[in-house]
Amino acid sequence: MKQIESLNKKIASCKKCPRLSGYIKEVAKNKVRRFNEEKYYGKPLSGFGDINAKLLIVGLAPAAHGGNRTGRMFTGDSSGDWLAKVMNKYGFASIPTSQNIDDGLLLKNAYITAAVRCAPPQNKPTKEEMQTCFEYLEQEKKILKNIITVLCLGKIAYDASCKLYQVKSEKFGHNKLFQYDEIKILTSYHPSKQNTQTNKLTWRQWSAVFQRAKRLTK
Ligand code: SF4
Repeated sequence: MKQIESLNKKIASCKKCPRLSGYIKEVAKNKVRRFNEEKYYGKPLSGFGDINAKLLIVGLAPAAHGGNRTGRMFTGDSSGDWLAKVMNKYGFASIPTSQNIDDGLLLKNAYITAAVRCAPPQNKPTKEEMQTCFEYLEQEKKILKNIITVLCLGKIAYDASCKLYQVKSEKFGHNKLFQYDEIKILTSYHPSKQNTQTNKLTWRQWSAVFQRAKRLTK
């Protein structure tokens, strides 16, 4: 527990990427109108969940007005709604919503993290920023000793996970499973509005991935 707490403290105060450090502060200051009354978190985000988990869920990065506002990944935006709902359906989450850091959401047998810990402009981190932030994924991997399946939400998460487990990145697609000696890597389209509102990712496809993740982590 101490190890993860000390890693999370280190992440929260990280300023290694000047562009992203500046951006998250700027977003926190110049809020969108609908959240004008709220105090934004505006710092890098650590992962969260069950440190004894067998399932590691890797996203791209916090959302500017989602995690960067609420202080927890996949919280307070539509991606978070999709994730909490499906995780609750398959027993990985205590409640079907993820609204704010005090909502009582607890994860079971799952840990949520991301390839990059600061919200990037247009959701596009640079290669250098991804490389700089990679050390935090490596440190989480060392602490989360029971992980047997990694679920990657989107291509950037998939590439980071392949690098993490030192396996060759294959052609990315939805609900693909790559099995290696050390790890199973499962892929999904990211539950961003861009994908869910265009039906690139339907609820049925999304649910099927978690059904599979559940089987793989029993
Ligand atoms: S993206 Fe990662 S490495 Fe870069 S400043 Fe944020 S926490 Fe630090």
